[in-house]
Amino acid sequence: MSKLNRRDFLKRASAVAAGSSLLAACGSGETNNADGAAPAVQTGKKYQWKMVTTWPPGFPVLGEGAELFAKWVEEMSAGRLKIRVYGGGELVPALESFEAVSQGVSEMGHGASYYWAGKSAATQFFCAVPFGMNAQQMNAWVISGGGLQLWEELYAPFNLVPIPCGNTGVQMGGWFKRKINSLVDLKGLKMRIPGLGGKVIEKAGGSAVLSAGGEIFTNLERGVIDATEWIGPYHDYKMGFPRVANYYYYPGWHEPGSVLELIVNRAAYEGLPGDLQAIVRAAALRANNWMLCEFEAQNNFYLKKIREEYPNTEVLRFPDDVLSGLKQYADEVIQEIIADDPASRKVYESFDNFRQQIGAWSVLSEKAYYDVVGG
Ligand code: CA
Repeated sequence: MSKLNRRDFLKRASAVAAGSSLLAACGSGETNNADGAAPAVQTGKKYQWKMVTTWPPGFPVLGEGAELFAKWVEEMSAGRLKIRVYGGGELVPALESFEAVSQGVSEMGHGASYYWAGKSAATQFFCAVPFGMNAQQMNAWVISGGGLQLWEELYAPFNLVPIPCGNTGVQMGGWFKRKINSLVDLKGLKMRIPGLGGKVIEKAGGSAVLSAGGEIFTNLERGVIDATEWIGPYHDYKMGFPRVANYYYYPGWHEPGSVLELIVNRAAYEGLPGDLQAIVRAAALRANNWMLCEFEAQNNFYLKKIREEYPNTEVLRFPDDVLSGLKQYADEVIQEIIADDPASRKVYESFDNFRQQIGAWSVLSEKAYYDVVGG
């Protein structure tokens, strides 16, 4: 039980006496107000938190998932922990959210760890690795295979507690304005593709272009770029890509199961009573599951919609030699990263060991099953 200071006591006593509710002030990150609707004796401290995100405001699935997480926390805590969610740029620029949570400007953030490769290259292994593990396997590694402990260790110097909170599932390979028949066709290709996947495309002789989300469509339409990856049918349809490129390639070798993350400022997290910490973790686990379910359900619906509404769209599998060439380049990219960085080596070794073990099991379980039922 935390010590009640005199100021808090007086504030609470006067509120109870007045029988009215006080508005929560969010400056200090917590409030001790009594709520008019609560029982007369209200001992639970109330917390008003902020969550910054890397997503545009109201972004389907990812931004929605962050909002749902906040709603569930509020419901489960009976209003003791309220979290206001901000889209990228609303409180801090999207790609400054790691720093904002690290410094306590915001108590929480939601995003993807590969955005923080500049802080530590090893962060990328907790989100998406080209030709790495899919959503089910990543969840198994992070939640049950020791990944989370390594992630916590990596984020501790930044005053952050990482919690897995969402997964995109296997993404699509992207929209191309011309056909990719062999590895040679990637030479000179200008593609919007971030992260490790971009490094792989560069090894193949292409150039990885960074464009903000809002500029991709126009860049593709005007030929500033020849191709772009984004997410999957649901988000790609909403971006309008089938209107400006005809070849829709799969699979998303570069993002086979991108893990989304919740980051919590360590001091803020440790300042929560145990039951609220447990509620944060339970809501994150629920959001982790909800986002993957939503991606799977919407992507299948929108793939059908793309095929029906855009008869010019050709949905194509990358040729085998393209995939095997890209895989070889991906191995080179990863070896270069772990050669220079002990933290990356440590995380990647755990990742890779787990992948090899679970791969042997997945061949007998998921893959064998898909082979039998045809998908
Ligand atoms: Ca993507």
